[in-house]
Amino acid sequence: MSAPQPIAPITQDVLTVPRKLPEGPVNLVGLTRAAMLDALIAAGTPEKQAKMRVNQVWQWIYQWGVRDFSAMTNLAKPYRALLAENFTVAIPEMVSKQVSTDGTRKYLARIAGGHEVEVVYIPEEDRGTLCVSSQVGCTLTCSFCHTGTQKLVRNLTAGEIVGQIMMVRDDLNEWPTPGAPKDETRLLSNIVLMGMGEPLYNFDNVRDAMKIAMDPEGIQLSRRRITLSTSGVVPEIARAAEEIGCLLAVSFHATTNETRDKLVPINKRWNIETLLNALREYPKLSNSERITFEYVMLKDVNDSDEDARRLVHLIQGIPAKINLIPFNEWPGAPYKRSSNNRIRAFADIIYKAGYASPIRTPRGEDIMAACGQLKSATERARKSKAQIEAEAGLGGSGN
Ligand code: SAH
Ligand code: SF4
Repeated sequence: MSAPQPIAPITQDVLTVPRKLPEGPVNLVGLTRAAMLDALIAAGTPEKQAKMRVNQVWQWIYQWGVRDFSAMTNLAKPYRALLAENFTVAIPEMVSKQVSTDGTRKYLARIAGGHEVEVVYIPEEDRGTLCVSSQVGCTLTCSFCHTGTQKLVRNLTAGEIVGQIMMVRDDLNEWPTPGAPKDETRLLSNIVLMGMGEPLYNFDNVRDAMKIAMDPEGIQLSRRRITLSTSGVVPEIARAAEEIGCLLAVSFHATTNETRDKLVPINKRWNIETLLNALREYPKLSNSERITFEYVMLKDVNDSDEDARRLVHLIQGIPAKINLIPFNEWPGAPYKRSSNNRIRAFADIIYKAGYASPIRTPRGEDIMAACGQLKSATERARKSKAQIEAEAGLGGSGN
């Protein structure tokens, strides 16, 4: 493998809000177990007890969904008071919820600084998937993606990422009751990091949040029920395998560098060949079965039979499933969705080559909750992509 390349400098512009505000209590949500241990000790917990206290507090927060210290009944009252003085247990605030005719729920979650991100819950027969955001907006500018036209960007903290799961569990009323038998059929059973943002440009926070979601004494989601989708941040792919170990999806979307450069501009930095080399290693490193190749179907852009054949040829040797996503249009989008016949013909070629090629059914279209349509409402109302690009070209002084 070639030497690791530096991450695109654009990440240096991304601001992460510190977990601890200069004044005031520390939010326990999003701290790793080790960080929570340090925090409890710093607040005066005797070192000998600290590990046990972490276990207790952890279970209250992540297993039972209890966020009020006074309800943490296996802790002595003075200790609960100490916790309340030094800490909060805060998650994003749900500011709105829309329910689609197909049952999909789209939430707007408000985070520190008054920013907003969208979170989408997709109920299916045998599962319920939560589409989680990792950034406010996205620094990348994939030309078919609505989020990519949003100007404002900051990384979400680990607490804001895992907090989206907690917020929706609240709404679904899905926290178990202490002592009740374990319920294996969960309304919220799967996580996809396919909301707003590029998760591998917010690596540490995404990793910490997913570790919390997987922790066996908390939310308890198996790593095989978590899928991280990346546009192709090559240097972070091996790290994701080793440090998160969840399933990987990649926004592939084109079969020549020329087209991929236009659709997924990060391709200019790490092209198809470099990306495929990193992907080849992923299943071994993460001990997972296969990679999902996401492929958005854009009329007359990337949807020919020849594209399908090239795709099959490119991914040879990689255990893969190809998820075809009919393009979801948004106001001012420069593309059209491929016809159903075209999508089926494309799927057929892939299927005959031996790969699963499911066509993703758009969900929640009536509430703009489908893939790539997310963008916070305030931004959406104000700006078009052309406007944003023009502003950026003029020095980007904003509105
Ligand atoms: N930034 C990450 C994850 C978020 S996007 C990534 O790019 O992978 C989740 C998926 O939706 C990606 O495959 C993305 O390419 C796709 N997508 C974006 N805009 C879309 C649109 N308008 N229609 C259909 N899929 C879209
Ligand atoms: Fe960002 Fe993913 Fe949208 Fe590209 S497709 S702009 S990486 S959110």
